Amino acid sequence: MTDLTTDCYPSPTNGAPLLTVVEARAAILAAADPVARVTQRIVCADSLGRVLAESIRSPIDVPPHDNSAMDGYALRADDLGADWRLPIAQRIAAGESPPPLPPGTAARIFTGAPIPDGADTVVIQEECEIASGWLRLRRAPQRGGNIRPRGNDIAAGQEVLAAGTRLDPRHLGLLASIGHREVSVRPRLRVALLTTGAELTEPGEPLAPGRIYNSNRHLLAALLREQGCELIDPGPVPDTLEATQAALRAAAATADLIVSTGGVSVGDEDHVKAAVAACGQIALWRVNMKPGKPLLYGRIQAAHLIGLPGNPVSAYVTALLFLLPLLRRLQGRDGPLFPEPESARLAHDWPRARPRREFLRARLVYEAGQLPWAEPAQRQGSDVLTGVAHADGLLELPPDATPKRGTIVNYWSLARLQA
Ligand code: AMP
Ligand code: MG
Repeated sequence: MTDLTTDCYPSPTNGAPLLTVVEARAAILAAADPVARVTQRIVCADSLGRVLAESIRSPIDVPPHDNSAMDGYALRADDLGADWRLPIAQRIAAGESPPPLPPGTAARIFTGAPIPDGADTVVIQEECEIASGWLRLRRAPQRGGNIRPRGNDIAAGQEVLAAGTRLDPRHLGLLASIGHREVSVRPRLRVALLTTGAELTEPGEPLAPGRIYNSNRHLLAALLREQGCELIDPGPVPDTLEATQAALRAAAATADLIVSTGGVSVGDEDHVKAAVAACGQIALWRVNMKPGKPLLYGRIQAAHLIGLPGNPVSAYVTALLFLLPLLRRLQGRDGPLFPEPESARLAHDWPRARPRREFLRARLVYEAGQLPWAEPAQRQGSDVLTGVAHADGLLELPPDATPKRGTIVNYWSLARLQA
């Protein structure tokens, strides 16, 4: 565990330049280890979205027997004479355990049925003529054709899933294919969600003058649930230092990770930074990016804390770039903690140079044989949540750039960022 002190990262408060996005993510990840709590043994049917605590080896060959890939006729290629005729001596459906193939005969066989001992070839039914219990081939068969050999997919003893895999529907199918009924999974992360802001009103309540609806709470709660977290949601936190400290302390008592939104800038009504400094440690504050500059990472006792900005777009983008990689680390996930970018072509000139690295909400437009176009949303304000809702990814523009249409840019699909 990296030792965290308030001055171990540069910040504008001590005169050093702002951290880059990559530096900030690396610093957060370097400060976090997978949460160490007892693993759970659960039935596979309940394991969707959970993180494997063990690597999984197959106890069996899959398929467990040579079987037919097609509906047709099983035979021994050497038994065929010049007339390509054989009597049909048995019928084998999937699920049966057939006796050996008598020499000089063929067997009617169906997809998935075990190949009888002695047969070495399956001929598909479209290439056969049947008359009076005899099979006649239209042409010479391909020896060994249409047989899926035992262990074709998985050999007994082979590792099929690595520890740290987050189980999705494909993995549940794979576990079932090797006969697994139960798996060991890592504990769900306990994540406390604190939304700050005296202006916040819950959906369903009437909106008093000066108030807005609390969109961050619902967006982030859904994002965290989608990641398999156990959500602790004490509700909105009033804009006072005392209330913020009390909420942080209470959250730290049970949570592995505290996520806050808002109150992390430098206004008189922003108390998150001061509250973290008072009851924990600030490791990092402010990142050279847009949206989302006032990002904070620190610790309150054993709990990690990530303070996201209040503007909903900033909260969402910083959640994708920093919170989800941190979650993956704490969950002990296998594989990259942040996806590599894809390449796309900027669909419009972008004349507005900005001193900070920008993450624009964008959609891809495909063109055959070309890199896709990345089309930025018309409205890029950090309060414009419709821009997020209509985007399918984030496009990255380096600081001080005025790229022209066609410039190759980094692009991350939201699906990959949220995987
Ligand atoms: P703050 O960082 O607290 O000053 O918030 C920045 C902006 O984000 C302000 O316009 C807030 O009203 C808005 N905001 C803060 N929290 C939320 C929230 N939970 N839902 C929607 N907007 C918010
Ligand atoms: Mg606020």
